[in-house]
Amino acid sequence: MALDAAIRSRNVKNTDRRLSNLLRDIRACRICEVHLPHGVNPVIHASATAKLCIVAQAPGIRVHETGISFNDPSGDRLREWMGVDRATFYDESRVAIIGMGFCFPGTDAKGGDRPPRKECAEAWQDKLFAALPKFKLTLLVGIYAFDWHLGDAAKANVTETVRAWREFAPRTIPLPHPSWRNNAWLKKNPWFATELLPYLRKRVKSAIG
Ligand code: SF4
Repeated sequence: MALDAAIRSRNVKNTDRRLSNLLRDIRACRICEVHLPHGVNPVIHASATAKLCIVAQAPGIRVHETGISFNDPSGDRLREWMGVDRATFYDESRVAIIGMGFCFPGTDAKGGDRPPRKECAEAWQDKLFAALPKFKLTLLVGIYAFDWHLGDAAKANVTETVRAWREFAPRTIPLPHPSWRNNAWLKKNPWFATELLPYLRKRVKSAIG
């Protein structure tokens, strides 16, 4: 038993070191710097002990400026969906927040945020998930997270993938982006609030207490 505990402890330390080295490399990354109009600022929250992971899109301008993921009205709505306060949401020992792109990609001609840079997921996503702990619950937010993490299991579009949430539960739950841009979507799909959200809150509570 003592040997088992020593091996487990050594494995935790190794995972920790591997993850720390990777996070250091990501924070020093400059791979797509020339395409980032606001410059490089990888935003990522992760630890070797987190039980819940949120995989999102890419930082917006406010996240870029503060270095804190979902530090905006979308984050307020996501916290409300999950039934957690800011202190819990930003407790890295319990919650990891990973973007499909780690730096703010800038805005398009209409003022909307550009999609996450593809180079970012290609360079880091698999390496990072190999070093992260096994999560009790992973929330996939938006189509870029669906495409990468669900692969062929993702449906034709966001609505169909979220509507099929029971196929991915209990360990994975797909969610639409909590942006105000999806207000019409939320209105059009009342099952999201009446069926999925109560389940989501129950699973979040069971994953992180
Ligand atoms: S978006 Fe990703 S790949 Fe590009 S510079 Fe930032 S961390 Fe590196």
